[in-house]
Amino acid sequence: MSVDTPKFRTSDEVDFVIIGSGAAGGILAKELSGHGFQVVVLEQGPYLTEADFVHDEIKVLQEDLLTNHPKLQPTTFRKTPLDKAKHQRALVYGRLVGGTSVHFTANFWRLHEIDFIERSKIGAIPGANFVDWPITYNDLEPYYTKVEWEVGVSGLAGASPFDPPRSKPYPMPPLPVKSSGVIFERAARKLGWNPFPAPMAILSEARPGRSACVNCGFCLAFGCEVGAKSSSLATAVRMAEKTGHCEIRPNSYVHRIELDERGRATGAVYFDAQRNTHLQKAKAVIVCANGAETPRLLLLSANKQFPNGLANSSGVVGTNLMLNTGAVSIGVFDEPLNDYKGFAVSRILHDFYELDKEKVGFYGGGGLDARFDMTPIGFALGSLPPDAPRWGKDFKSVLKHNFTRSMEIFGHGTSLPVESNSFSLDDELKDAWGLPALRMTYKDHPDDMKLAHWLAARSMELLDAAGAKQKWTMPVGESEFAVHLLGTCRMGNDPAKSVINPDHRTHDVKNLFLCDGSSLVTSGRGQPTMTIEALAFRAADRITELAKRGEISA
Ligand SMILES: Cc1cc2nc3c(=O)[nH]c(=O)nc-3n(C[C@H](O)[C@H](O)[C@H](O)COP(=O)(O)OP(=O)(O)OC[C@H]3O[C@@H](n4cnc5c(N)ncnc54)[C@H](O)[C@@H]3O)c2cc1C
Ligand code: SF4
Repeated sequence: MSVDTPKFRTSDEVDFVIIGSGAAGGILAKELSGHGFQVVVLEQGPYLTEADFVHDEIKVLQEDLLTNHPKLQPTTFRKTPLDKAKHQRALVYGRLVGGTSVHFTANFWRLHEIDFIERSKIGAIPGANFVDWPITYNDLEPYYTKVEWEVGVSGLAGASPFDPPRSKPYPMPPLPVKSSGVIFERAARKLGWNPFPAPMAILSEARPGRSACVNCGFCLAFGCEVGAKSSSLATAVRMAEKTGHCEIRPNSYVHRIELDERGRATGAVYFDAQRNTHLQKAKAVIVCANGAETPRLLLLSANKQFPNGLANSSGVVGTNLMLNTGAVSIGVFDEPLNDYKGFAVSRILHDFYELDKEKVGFYGGGGLDARFDMTPIGFALGSLPPDAPRWGKDFKSVLKHNFTRSMEIFGHGTSLPVESNSFSLDDELKDAWGLPALRMTYKDHPDDMKLAHWLAARSMELLDAAGAKQKWTMPVGESEFAVHLLGTCRMGNDPAKSVINPDHRTHDVKNLFLCDGSSLVTSGRGQPTMTIEALAFRAADRITELAKRGEISA
């Protein structure tokens, strides 16, 4: 039986207005509407479906069909607060219903126990604002399992000797191994490392209304045309709508959260597609706009009571930005691998998850994955050997040879929270609606740079052991571009040093909650989305309990 999705009036005081329908927002919408609460989700991007997704590199990668557009929402960048920010593209995220989970790679790693308690184990790190989480792996474990079963994650439990404990196996087997995975696995074993099937938020078995992966090959940065990628669009958002209590309202760009004289949030103010302004009234507001837009919205919502930004009495909003350290090496082999067919990653390893600081001389850790995530134009522009010809017959011949014979090793690692690394409001640049643009300030902690070089060296070692005929590492430079947007409204028990408490409630405003990449306290080792979604399931439980006890609207 189909259920009509409700249409609320802006003057209806719904139970929750959720801002952003991405990895976290979709799940909160699903859970809260599933408990019978009235929910309106305001999403700035359009509501596209599988039928709208195309294999068009120009539209998707160059014209930002699915992502934040640098002309509409421009950004600036500076390395330190002392520098003048330059107008440049500083970040990418999914700007549509389903958010960044629609176009992501879908590597889906849990954090390990150590991630939550590292500060206690390692001690202070100069220049970093390194603290323990106020919750532990055990608090989150049931929610990791819930994510795997509800959205659909493929993988093999117990395949990695480094895996944290789990209460249930994966709901479906791993995706088939790719050529890059076979090569990676053999070479890693030669080196005494422990490769294993990559856990992926991609279906290896069909589910009602969703096909298993058909290996279309346009995966990273593209929307899945068969619903195999377990995005919020293909999973939580649809389930939320089926409850009959949730309205997803696309093309709704929120630019202010209103407070009443008692200091309680009354709703969210947004521009509709025609740029008319509306206030959606709600008993409580939940911001899930990601690690860049959530702090921006709080800063845009400054008022008399909170002159430095809503819920920002601590001054922590926007700070401690973490991006996850990365390194990419590419190998070319004699025989065709044809790795462009299919999803990106089939094998990973976690032998370096927790490096011994005393031995390597820096803090950090990470994982390696074997992949090919390129589509033809992107490959031609960015994945040829440094000395390859870039024009004419020789260029064509290297393209023809390398496209089918290349694979990549990605290193993914920690990045440290540094107070001055942040998202804030630019003093001069405005977006197409006249609002202050996002300004990113970022300089990698020296340990993060050392880790990037270290991971690159391990990737090269692996490509060597694999017998690659040609291999090189992409230049390891300081970060100026953000893909993972983490830590900017961190969770903590101390209102002076964090923005939300372990219930995701802001310390300053009783009926304002934040849940997304901004909630993370440490960065993990890359692949934050599994944790963001587990936090969202947990937040939904906490918020439901508070609401049922009458502690939100009182
Ligand atoms: C190219 C790429 C590849 C990635 N691959 C991986 C991967 O393999 N594994 C992994 O774990 N992670 C990956 N990530 C990161 C992952 O996608 C994000 O960590 C995750 O989606 C973040 O979830 P979120 O809920 O914080 O925000 P998002 O998913 O970004 O959702 C935020 C939503 O809020 C909306 N929004 C923002 N501001 C407003 C506003 N003012 N009003 C209304 N709506 C608003 C946005 O349009 C968006 O839909 C990748 C990211 C990118 C860019
Ligand atoms: S490779 Fe598979 S999961 Fe990725 S977009 Fe294509 S069908 Fe979907």
